[in-house]
Amino acid sequence: MSSTLTSRARELDTLHAGTDLRGRFRLPAGVVYLDGNSLGALPVGVAEAVADVVHRQWGNRLIASWNEAGWWGAPTRVGDRLGRLVGAAPGQVVCTDSTTVNLYKAVVAASRMRPDRRVVLTDPDSFPTDLYITDAAARDAGLVVERVPPPEAAGRVAELGDDLALASYSSVDYRTGELWDLPSLTRAVHAVGGLACWDLCHSAGVLDIGLDEHRADLAVGCGYKYLNGGPGAPGFLYVAARHQDAFDQPLAGWNGHATPFAMAPDYVPAPGISRARVGTPHLLGMLALEAALAAYDRVEVSAVRERSLSLTGFFLECLDSLLPQLPVATPREAGRRGSQVSVRHPQAYAVVQALIARGVVGDFREPDIVRLGFAPLYLTHGDVLRAATHLLEVVVGGEFEREEFRTRATVT
Ligand SMILES: *Cc1c(COP(=O)(O)O)cnc(C)c1O
Repeated sequence: MSSTLTSRARELDTLHAGTDLRGRFRLPAGVVYLDGNSLGALPVGVAEAVADVVHRQWGNRLIASWNEAGWWGAPTRVGDRLGRLVGAAPGQVVCTDSTTVNLYKAVVAASRMRPDRRVVLTDPDSFPTDLYITDAAARDAGLVVERVPPPEAAGRVAELGDDLALASYSSVDYRTGELWDLPSLTRAVHAVGGLACWDLCHSAGVLDIGLDEHRADLAVGCGYKYLNGGPGAPGFLYVAARHQDAFDQPLAGWNGHATPFAMAPDYVPAPGISRARVGTPHLLGMLALEAALAAYDRVEVSAVRERSLSLTGFFLECLDSLLPQLPVATPREAGRRGSQVSVRHPQAYAVVQALIARGVVGDFREPDIVRLGFAPLYLTHGDVLRAATHLLEVVVGGEFEREEFRTRATVT
């Protein structure tokens, strides 16, 4: 391990000591966890909170907990807590369903808000579920999907003019970690009277998104990535207050009804963000997410972003010095980077497996990406250097060529 890098890691950890929140997490010893962008780590207090929900709220209080424990209001209560992290004032975010389902609702609702417009734009390199569900929603809503990469989107928006209903993009590319320009694309879309929907799966909890500030119209995101809600935690949906009355979503379920307990035969949407609810909330997962969000208590996202940029910036520094031959897929400029660094290697899958065997957990993405997510709350610059050093040994030492690292599991 280079002694310059070692002392630099120490310096940076001292400089950023104020945002070292590792004590708020339960991580296994000896692991450098660089997969918090896929499944966040377990925050302290979540296991106890879930045990309380199971034993006391469910086991002892049974159905009384719908009122007593505030189960019914959990989607909007947790939604408001998520809202703080994505720059949304209360009353605009609901915690519900999965990102996939929320995106379906958002695309169809957007088409109904712009009934005379025909086109929805999305990124050809989107996370596949975004592509599949946008196609499916467009088919149901009578829209045409055009796949246009983010750098060309504003130009295409201007050409489409009043044919553009919706531009639906991720704020950070899940594969390369590139951060797209949400404010400027949103402005371009508004200039032609269209709507902008943002997928925040890889940005919520690690950078300032400023949904209200930048006048985003709609947004969706996951609870189980940087937000640490646990496996299968519900996602969220943002509908800007100014659009809520017109937000006519396709999944008219009883939880989104204006008077759900009147058991009326016909659907009347609830006022406000509650109309984005569908069926009975997945409470075990939602209340785990609520408890997990305590990891963000008394922390500003801007401070998390600062730490994140320092971690990813230092990782790039380590790569430059230890592995300059490895192509980096993530932009170097801080302003264009999310909270991950992806490198390319022809045997990326095997490299990731060899790293995992050494206690450095990242993931592989097709076709040749070694994806390393830097969840800022629980990683240090010391961890970053350890990860880079292991990567050096795996790649330069040829360890990835071992047979045992080549067999693919079901989940990669
Ligand atoms: C993780 C991720 C999803 C996952 O969606 P689910 O419905 O939770 O399975 C969707 N979109 C993006 C961009 C993601 O990164």
